[in-house]
Amino acid sequence: MPLEIQDLHAGYGNINVLHGISFRVERGEIVTLIGANGAGKTTALAAIARIPPPEGPRVIRGAIRYQNISLMPIAAHRIVSDFHMALAPEGRHIFGNLTVAENLKLATFARKNKTAVNRDYDRVYGLFPQLARRRGQRSETLSGGEQQMLTVGRAIMTGCDFLLLDEPSMGLAPVLMMELFQALGELNRDGMTILLIEQNAGVALKFAHRGYVLDAGRIAAEGEAASLRDNPGVKKAYLGG
Ligand code: ATP
Repeated sequence: MPLEIQDLHAGYGNINVLHGISFRVERGEIVTLIGANGAGKTTALAAIARIPPPEGPRVIRGAIRYQNISLMPIAAHRIVSDFHMALAPEGRHIFGNLTVAENLKLATFARKNKTAVNRDYDRVYGLFPQLARRRGQRSETLSGGEQQMLTVGRAIMTGCDFLLLDEPSMGLAPVLMMELFQALGELNRDGMTILLIEQNAGVALKFAHRGYVLDAGRIAAEGEAASLRDNPGVKKAYLGG
C-alpha cells in the first residue's frame, strides 16, 4: 500500500483542523480530496509532505505511512529525496526572477542520474509546450496558467513518482484547466500516482479514480469517483445540484 492516513488529527497552535481523517492512495491511482474552503484539504497535504509548523500543521495523533514506513519522523526534504513524493503547492511558489528553465533546473539539484533528468525535461516540455516555448522567459512574466504548469513541472523535475497537487486548477480559464488535467492524466498513465486536492469537485471527480469528501476536518463521503458524482449529498453540496 503506498500511502495510508489513519485517524489523523492535526491543527495550528491550539486550533484543531483535522479531526481524525483516514484515507489511502494505492500505487498508480489518482485520488482526490474535495471539500469547501477551510475544510482542511491543504492541511492534510502539508501534513503528508511533512511541511513543518508554522506553515504546516502540528500533527496531534494518527498515522501517515508510505510503503509501510511512518513518515512522522521524516523531514520534508527527505520526503522528496528518499520517498520520491513531491508537493506542487497552491499559489505557485516559483522564483519569479528566474527563467522557466532555471526554475526547473533548481528542482533537480539533488539528482545524480543525468539521463533521467534529461528524460524528465523532455517529459515536462512535452506535456506543457507553452513552457518549452518560454523556457528563457522570466517566470514572473508568465500568465497565471503558465505559472501553474511550471509549479507542476517543477514537482515532476524532482524525479518523483507520487505527486501531491494542491488546487492546480486555481484561477485557470476552462481551456487551460482542461489542458492541465489532460497532461496530468497522461502523467498518470505513465505511472505517476497522484493525490489531488480540489475545490472544483466537478472537474476533480471526472479526472480521479476515487475520492474523499472532507467536511470541516472529517471525511463525510468516499468512494469511486463515478459513485461520488451520483451521490445526492455530494451533488447538492459540491456539484451545484
Ligand atoms: P481552501 O480550499 O480554502 O484552500 P482548505 O480545505 O485547503 O481550504 P486549509 O488551508 O487546510 O483548508 O485550512 C483549514 C483551516 O486551517 C482554516 O481555518 C485555516 O484558516 C487554518 N490554517 C491553514 N493554514 C494555517 C496556518 N499555517 N496557520 C494557522 N491556521 C491555518
